[in-house]
Amino acid sequence: MPRVQSIQMRVLLWGWGVLIVGLALAFWRYSASLDEETARDFERETLTRLETVQWLLDRGGPFKEPRDRHDFLQTLAANMGMRISLIQGGEVLADSSRAFGDLATMDDHSTRPEVLAALGNELGKATRHSTTLDRDMIYMARKLPGQEGEDATVLRLAAPVSQVRMHMQRMRWALLAAVIPLLLGSGILLYLLSRTLTSGIAQFTEAAQAIGEGDYRRRILFYPAAEFQPLAEAINRMAKKIKKNMKVIENQRGELWAMFEGMTEGVMVLDTAGRILHVNPAMSAIFPRAQEFLGRAPLEATMSLEIQNLVDTLMAGETTEPVSRQIELKNRHCAEMTVVPFRDHKFRPRVILIFHDTSEQKRVERVLRDFVANASHQLRTPLTSIRGYAETLLDAPPADDAKRREFLDIIRANAVHMSKVIAGMFALAKSERGGKRPKDLNASVLQALEHALMNCTFAAQEKDIHLEVEALPEGLPNVAADPDGLLQIADNLLDNAIKYSPMGTAVRISAETDGQSVTMRFHDQGPGISPEDQKRIFERFFRADNNDVDGAGSAGLGLAICRHIARNYGGEVWVDSPADKGAGNGSVFSVRLPVV
Ligand code: ADP
Repeated sequence: MPRVQSIQMRVLLWGWGVLIVGLALAFWRYSASLDEETARDFERETLTRLETVQWLLDRGGPFKEPRDRHDFLQTLAANMGMRISLIQGGEVLADSSRAFGDLATMDDHSTRPEVLAALGNELGKATRHSTTLDRDMIYMARKLPGQEGEDATVLRLAAPVSQVRMHMQRMRWALLAAVIPLLLGSGILLYLLSRTLTSGIAQFTEAAQAIGEGDYRRRILFYPAAEFQPLAEAINRMAKKIKKNMKVIENQRGELWAMFEGMTEGVMVLDTAGRILHVNPAMSAIFPRAQEFLGRAPLEATMSLEIQNLVDTLMAGETTEPVSRQIELKNRHCAEMTVVPFRDHKFRPRVILIFHDTSEQKRVERVLRDFVANASHQLRTPLTSIRGYAETLLDAPPADDAKRREFLDIIRANAVHMSKVIAGMFALAKSERGGKRPKDLNASVLQALEHALMNCTFAAQEKDIHLEVEALPEGLPNVAADPDGLLQIADNLLDNAIKYSPMGTAVRISAETDGQSVTMRFHDQGPGISPEDQKRIFERFFRADNNDVDGAGSAGLGLAICRHIARNYGGEVWVDSPADKGAGNGSVFSVRLPVV
């Protein structure tokens, strides 16, 4: 910034400058007219004196001796403080500055300019150096009326120049004495005025600075002069407006921030250089370490060249429309990504990336697709059979009663199978929905086992199967599962154990805990499951044919449902077969669930 002189300095310099020049001009003009005036006054006074001396000479005379006239004039000159001379035809008849005896030695005075002028009947005036007195003198001479035939007599008065000059000097000093206090006084006044101005400006500066630093309540209430009022009002208005705008901005920022933090979609904001500026908490569900990559390129946080390329294209400002893409993430996750371009305050292109995790949506779609495919496949065979037998019974009913009854049995068995398939599929669909929040998951293992035992008592009695419950450990903790889900697992495993066990055998039920989880076991003495089938029995609709104990009604969904439910709670279901190594048969189905 160029160096600018302060207002105070300027007011002082200019004010004083103008005053000094004005006073100097006035002084010069005044002293010039003073000189003239003084000279005129002196002239007038000397003329009066000339007349007085002439009159006194007339009264004093006639003198007996020239000496008497000389003495008379000398006395007069001493009283008047002037030099008086009387000159006739160049000869000095009397001179107050000389002794009478010396007059004869004096020069011829007829050539003196004042004398020459007086002889010409004028008032003779001259200022020059007097050889007689050796100092500058002012002379005034006048011709006296004389006798006929006699040389004209000239009366001359003289005063030293210094006397007049001294008078002038005194006047000048008096003038200066008046000017100096005037200058000093005006200087003080100018200083005070400029200080008021600068202190007013300092107040403005301070207020503007405070407003700039965020004190929007600051106002200028006092100002040094009326001229400052519009400026003060403008600054006050500006502060008020800024305060209002800041309020709006802060509110909007708060709303946006709450939205940003609370969104279920992951949001990544990039700066003008295409580096990550902010990411919201939801981003960590999609890219778990996104927070660690602030200030880096999206490629590093997402490890996706596709995303980086898209960002680069939009950052180049080639398009102003948002672009959406489906992207594959790790762990079979997928998301819909929308890159929204916008321009910042300097019109530079910037982008925001929004990630919508579509994994759950995709999973639900897949489940629905599978459900429909499985359902139609599973229901088509029994339905065709029911239709066939029903049509036969209608169109060509067998004459044999036993045959008719057999057909109806087949129809009923298929209907039972269909209802089992449908029930199983609903149970599976329900377990797919997930549902409860983890903190609401709390189920008692003991209660679930008691309930399952009660449900299966009838089936066990039918096959004369002995249900043995091992003594459960003291204080068995609850598991983090929904009681309905846990019961469904226990029901299915116990039902299978009974279903696939030969008549008159035993099923052993036990539970144990390691503090972290609880494991329930269902141990049967059935045919066991081959290693190949063990890999597949938890798949939907898988059934090992050689285990088709009850012949009809099994849908192959029970174990799939169990595994699904257990995994939903962070647990697992598995089988060990043969149960007793060496004995060669039997299987143990176990389910492990985390404790609450
Ligand atoms: P379902 O019992 O309806 O056929 P599941 O999913 O419950 O369907 O069982 C799948 C298959 O696993 C059954 O078909 C059966 O072959 C086999 N299985 C299940 N439990 C046992 C068991 N305790 N002993 C022997 N085989 C079993």
